[in-house]
Amino acid sequence: MSIVAIARPDIRALKPYSSARMESPLMDAGGGAVLLNANESPWPATLAAGLNRYPDPQPAELVARLAALYGVESGQVLAGRGSDEAIDLLVRAFCAAGKDAIAICPPTFGMYAVCACIQNAGVIEVPLARAFDLDTDALLAAVTPQTKLVFLCSPNNPTGGVVPLSAIARIATALTDRALVVVDEAYAEFAGAVSAVSLLPHFANIAILRTLSKAHALAGARIGALIAPVDVIALLRHIQAPYPLPTPCVDAALAALSPAGRVEANARVAAIVRERERLVPALAALPQVRAVLPSAANFLCVRFANATATYRRLLALGIVVRDISGYPALTNSLRISVGTPQENTRLLSALSACEVAA
Ligand SMILES: *Cc1c(COP(=O)(O)O)cnc(C)c1O
Repeated sequence: MSIVAIARPDIRALKPYSSARMESPLMDAGGGAVLLNANESPWPATLAAGLNRYPDPQPAELVARLAALYGVESGQVLAGRGSDEAIDLLVRAFCAAGKDAIAICPPTFGMYAVCACIQNAGVIEVPLARAFDLDTDALLAAVTPQTKLVFLCSPNNPTGGVVPLSAIARIATALTDRALVVVDEAYAEFAGAVSAVSLLPHFANIAILRTLSKAHALAGARIGALIAPVDVIALLRHIQAPYPLPTPCVDAALAALSPAGRVEANARVAAIVRERERLVPALAALPQVRAVLPSAANFLCVRFANATATYRRLLALGIVVRDISGYPALTNSLRISVGTPQENTRLLSALSACEVAA
């Protein structure tokens, strides 16, 4: 069965807005075509050249490069304004307001619950088990008939742990025809684990969120991708904004996904992983550090004796980290992104100095 059958009937039936560029893509316009169909300015602005035309809604070259990057077909890719947009589209397409729900495993990324709240969808919370591992049995027991989406974040933000593919497969099997399992792999490049994309050929109810914001150093361009069965991609296009991807952002993404761009990204990911492995024992050795959670991402979740005091001292020294003490089960914890070798050295000496001052 297509998992789209459980999506909102009104969205499945919705006739999407048809933009001028959808009806006649720029590429097809070809040399010499006269474009009088979109009420654009016929002249490029001299000071912002090349932007007088509306962009293609799903630029074919970008979608093809994303498909090649993640090892899928173009039809299985939805390019969007960051993976945040895909989260919002999934919730709006699958969850009827006041009726349906999503399931999440806190402490985890906040956007799933935020999007559900905006849609007035329920949020079923199944806390991670003791070592911040997924509690698969508890999750499956908590899923109701109204639960349309299950969000699994791997590596998980902010704890850094990976969800084993066997657990994802077990959940997707148990929820066949009932719910779409959405695996958020925003940090997958830093994990070196096999992507849940490898499960896609075997399941009609798995979708994967990827982004250029982290490993590809493009957070400012806001380009993300949903990898999903073709029917799910087609459904989400019913509700995606007509022109979601600004031309300069698409150009930046094409450059980042060129062969040279990918070589650089791979080298940077390797450098971050090396620095992460350097930081873990160095942080753990500090007297004010209580625990450093094992992380497969580009950040570390660190429990301190007094996170608020440490946060303030670091800030006073010009080092900004994230206070995540408010998350369930993460009292006195800070989330620290792995920086350049110089930045990480500065972090470590600041923390050593903090302890002397304490
Ligand atoms: C950063 C992050 C995202 C958002 O990525 P964008 O593509 O920039 O919207 C999604 N999921 C998780 C878990 C993240 O940490």
